[in-house]
Amino acid sequence: MVTSYRLKSLDETIAQLSREDCQIIAGGTDLMVQHKSPRGAPARFDEPIVFIDHLQELKRIRWVNQDLHIGACCTYSEMLGHPLIPNILKKAIKEIAAPAIRNRGTLGGNICNASPAGDTLPLLYLFNARLQLKSAKGDREVEIRDFIQGPRKVKRLKDELVTEIILPNVQEDHTSFVFEKVANRKADAITKISFAGLMRWDEGQIVDARFAFGAVGPTIVRSAAIEQKIVGEAFPLEAAVVNGIVADFERIIKPIDDQRSTAIYRKTVALHLLRYFIENAGEERGYAIGQGKDHPVD
Ligand SMILES: Cc1cc2nc3c(=O)[nH]c(=O)nc-3n(C[C@H](O)[C@H](O)[C@H](O)COP(=O)(O)OP(=O)(O)OC[C@H]3O[C@@H](n4cnc5c(N)ncnc54)[C@H](O)[C@@H]3O)c2cc1C
Repeated sequence: MVTSYRLKSLDETIAQLSREDCQIIAGGTDLMVQHKSPRGAPARFDEPIVFIDHLQELKRIRWVNQDLHIGACCTYSEMLGHPLIPNILKKAIKEIAAPAIRNRGTLGGNICNASPAGDTLPLLYLFNARLQLKSAKGDREVEIRDFIQGPRKVKRLKDELVTEIILPNVQEDHTSFVFEKVANRKADAITKISFAGLMRWDEGQIVDARFAFGAVGPTIVRSAAIEQKIVGEAFPLEAAVVNGIVADFERIIKPIDDQRSTAIYRKTVALHLLRYFIENAGEERGYAIGQGKDHPVD
């Protein structure tokens, strides 16, 4: 037997978390696998559980000035059907699991599970996402790169709930985006390596460049120092610049061998995806979205 709470409001849920150490459950698609018992017996939990998937306060998607706020309990299906979600995030979501899991799994759950293979994470790092956390003591905001510490390790106090994911200053015009997931098959497969990229230009000159790699280390790999080297360059990039960026990432990407892939495969594919993107990004080359254009893979 396990005590469980399904409280009427966010405030009551926060109050419960302040009274007792509880296990938060959103969609349960990670937790039920982690806590499963053998031979079909009910899942085992050592703490009382608190359901949050029904809380409407955690399901809003809205603009606040230039920033897009996404409620932590929005499911993948809800985000796919919402007009404010950026096309590139929808592309990543379409590659997550299968419809049944997408109807339950939430964005907040993907972040708090903190798997390096979590498919929304490269794009959330790329967007410089911030997280809103709430407890009875108050609210705080934290950058996703500071929140996620390693596989299943996040900087969250026991009484805190992630309430919103904030994507600051989202712009899609004059911007090339890419998200590529490499796995054993096109659907319902765990990522071997993933790559997200963004390049924005103004009058032919690159004004912003960001690259994020998933499943090649304990957390998502990004490097502001390397990204900065490309800013100010003109499209198309010279071969020496492309080679330099690829060589820089080759030095910092350090994947491991595991049951899903090998380190050498992960590194080789990651660098190929980076090279292809930086050689082909740009308005004329098919990667542009914004201004009504979709990503070419859609
Ligand atoms: C068959 C299958 C296929 C899958 N395929 C993919 C895939 O292709 N790509 C992928 O990335 N993932 C995949 N997953 C993993 C999973 O579906 C996702 O990580 C999903 O986003 C988890 O969300 P959830 O709401 O179900 O999390 P839950 O299982 O409810 O919770 C996960 C963790 O986050 C914590 N948590 C959840 N919400 C909050 C919150 N708001 N505040 C604080 N803590 C919180 C929980 O306490 C728990 O520690 C798959 C899972 C299954 C079972």
